[in-house]
Amino acid sequence: MNEPIFLQPIFQERIWGGTKLKDLFGYDIPNDHTGECWAISAHPNGQSTVKNGPFQGMKLGDLWTSQPELFRSESKVFPLLTKLLDASDDLSVQVHPDDEYAGKYENGELGKTECWYIVDAEPGAVIIYGHGAQTKEELVQMIENGDWERFLTKVPVKPGDFFYVPSGTLHALGKGIVVLETQQSSDTTYRVYDYDRRDKDGNTRELHLEKAIDVTGVPQVYEPVRFKTVQQDGLTVTSFVSNSFFTVEKWNVAGEAKPAVNEKYTIFSVLAGKGSLEVNDQSYELSKGDHFILPVGFGPYSLKGELEFIMAHE
Ligand code: ZN
Repeated sequence: MNEPIFLQPIFQERIWGGTKLKDLFGYDIPNDHTGECWAISAHPNGQSTVKNGPFQGMKLGDLWTSQPELFRSESKVFPLLTKLLDASDDLSVQVHPDDEYAGKYENGELGKTECWYIVDAEPGAVIIYGHGAQTKEELVQMIENGDWERFLTKVPVKPGDFFYVPSGTLHALGKGIVVLETQQSSDTTYRVYDYDRRDKDGNTRELHLEKAIDVTGVPQVYEPVRFKTVQQDGLTVTSFVSNSFFTVEKWNVAGEAKPAVNEKYTIFSVLAGKGSLEVNDQSYELSKGDHFILPVGFGPYSLKGELEFIMAHE
């Protein structure tokens, strides 16, 4: 199929959410505590729907199983999940399992390795990215005594930063940050600390300390992210990460670009700008907040305008 597949996101209310998904991207959000836009998702907890073409109205998960030639993947389920997150308040300190642990203890769910591209950050915004405990005993003590200030690693962030967050990393987005997250298609989170917050009914959110202690890496080891930038006519590609979970790149188009036809299906999110995607004699308008998939072998095509994308593939 030589047609891009545009997707309709779905939105999730969160205690820490806000209105920035509307303010920055113009989305019609359901309420003032909208924390997550599941933009490219086939996860059963929130699937995006095809907006155009012969498969209009179909859920991405159904497209994946009924039209395997569009994806030619060895994965049983659509393995990726692209989200935009509006952290209007601090997220809980959390950790995610790897494939092996999630497969065993979470009904065959995938593990969750994720990565963040910082879209927007208020001055002074920080994330929690790892911890300083050197032994399992120290980690347990930190959690039992609530010794967060001493052990959690805080990192200041600004727009354009990128963080790789493998499963087992203790982490949290801080207040005032909007990110585009590329992750494994998983919804398993073990909460360690939620700032003793109460919801509107006075309840605290459930913590999952035992599982969190099981899966948190000690000591926390970081794989350094090395950005690599390649320029060609009209296109600047910045590679952030490429491993067995995903490849994630930032694409900046200025003028006209003719990217190489990819043998894999690729997923795109437009973070800024306006322009178009041209294929054969068809033109598809693109603007900030659009999300689409190019199926296997799509093209040759060109991208026109001033555009910033996050591109990802398996
Ligand atoms: Zn997470």
